[in-house]
Amino acid sequence: MAIPIIIFILGLFVGSFLNVCIYRWPLDRSVIKPRSACTNCGTFLMPADLIPVLSYLACNGRCRYCKSPISPRYALVELLTGITFVALYRSQGLTFELLSYAILFSLLIIAFFTDIDYQIIPDQVSWGGMAIGILFDVALLSAGYARPTVDLPFFTNGISVPGSIFGAVTCFALFWMIAAGASVLFKAEALGGGDIKLAGAVGAFLGWKLALLSFVLAFLLGAAGGIILLVSKLKTRREYIPFGPFMVIGAVTAVFVGTPILVWYLNFYF
Ligand SMILES: [Zn+2]
Repeated sequence: MAIPIIIFILGLFVGSFLNVCIYRWPLDRSVIKPRSACTNCGTFLMPADLIPVLSYLACNGRCRYCKSPISPRYALVELLTGITFVALYRSQGLTFELLSYAILFSLLIIAFFTDIDYQIIPDQVSWGGMAIGILFDVALLSAGYARPTVDLPFFTNGISVPGSIFGAVTCFALFWMIAAGASVLFKAEALGGGDIKLAGAVGAFLGWKLALLSFVLAFLLGAAGGIILLVSKLKTRREYIPFGPFMVIGAVTAVFVGTPILVWYLNFYF
């Protein structure tokens, strides 16, 4: 079987597990026990019910036991994960970066949906992401594997601590300061604790340069998205618009096209 097909199918099954995390982590429930069950009738699902996308299509989007409709989002998350994994393979090849970014994207997909559903970014995603990003980087460094760095005009790599630790600490601190500043200036919570911790996780995986770019993209998208939501009256001024989804889109964009954007932008100045 061709590698992209294997990676796509793997992505579908990972996406199926991400659905469980999206559903259970914000409720502080284990993702291992009990087994998945229909949210309507409570019947435990059999292996035949757990085949990504196909089980959903085979039963016309309904529970096989009680016939109640199942949200198409489950199948959508599975497809989304499969497609992003293939896109990552196309951009990174079969490398450690592919594995590292596949882990990051899985965490980001969870954060995207839990932040929309519950305004929660689970600690498993944020603290967990920081820990995995740093451990992964340090393990590769100690194995003598040279990770590709982002070479930029003007900026040189003069950092002696691993990029993941530097990235996590600086991004966490930056968001913490923005949040503290905003709460003093506007007397309103602009960024939640989840956003601050997620910034640390993005910094651990992307390093500070790409992470910083992803935050700039997130703030631009957030401003544009906020205006669109207000003008279209989907949200009122008093309603909270979660920032996590914009950070997720910013980080994904930075992984795929961040380096060319940074080089293009900085060439104006240096
Ligand atoms: Zn059911």
